[in-house]
Amino acid sequence: MKNYSKFLKKESNVIFLFHGVIDKNPFKVRNYTKKHLLKKEFIKVLNDLDKKGNCISLEQVYNTIKNKKNFRDYSYSITFDDGFYNNYKIVAPILKKRKLHATFYITTSFIDKNETSWIDKIEHMIEKTKTKTTLNILNKKFKIGNTKKVKVNFLNSIRHLAKKDNTNLNNLVLDIKKQLGCNFKLNNLNNMLDKKMNWAQVSKLNQCEYFTIGGHTVNHPILSFLSDKEVKKEIYNSINYIKKNTGIKIKHYSYPEGLKHTFGMREIKLLKNRGIKICPSAEFGFNFKDADLFNLKRIFVNS
Ligand SMILES: [Zn+2]
Repeated sequence: MKNYSKFLKKESNVIFLFHGVIDKNPFKVRNYTKKHLLKKEFIKVLNDLDKKGNCISLEQVYNTIKNKKNFRDYSYSITFDDGFYNNYKIVAPILKKRKLHATFYITTSFIDKNETSWIDKIEHMIEKTKTKTTLNILNKKFKIGNTKKVKVNFLNSIRHLAKKDNTNLNNLVLDIKKQLGCNFKLNNLNNMLDKKMNWAQVSKLNQCEYFTIGGHTVNHPILSFLSDKEVKKEIYNSINYIKKNTGIKIKHYSYPEGLKHTFGMREIKLLKNRGIKICPSAEFGFNFKDADLFNLKRIFVNS
């Protein structure tokens, strides 16, 4: 367990990036990156931050930067990306009880169809497969076998591949599915690592005074890889769908994947056009009063 309070500094704000919290992990390989924390780990992280930290909302982060004020010493903020059901079921009650602010960035197709992200689909297939073979992916050969080590190595290679190349992630999923001969479904999965909130649950979260809903595109693509037309659709439609399904006019957003290469001026301009006022990245770092509202840093909590 990392000591996350060590990141808290005077006159600065740290935005922590979470995805989910689960009671237990029934899988052997899945969640090896700790995208979802165990509940007891999550509580330890909160207890540690509580020792000296001041939890503030992203709205307060916005106001502080906009008014060129210093952050309160040891400020931090809590964010959850993607819209997992465990955010509603497990995270929200814990945060509410502690009166801690959080922003939940939701991907609208995930909410609409209980859709699974490309990497979770691949993890799901690799967890289940017993095949020992060599896969040919984008003209490279990858070994796959029935041990945790081989499976984790494979998933790490895939993550690396998707980051580096302008890879069509949906085709990547289909290609792996075909080569492995998987015949089970890969969406509308209801285990705690995959299940997403529905619109009623998103609305309920939004009713709590401590919580804010933000956008996170329609399909979770890497925005910088898209054409102008596609990127506009991803951003504008996600904002419209949230309004249509919940009545919430969102002002908050986060970029899928969020590393430097995944967004730029084009994306920021479109977000600003539609009234988004603050959008953190997933680049590691700390935020001070002169921070750029569309380039805020975050720290990924994964242990
Ligand atoms: Zn995401």
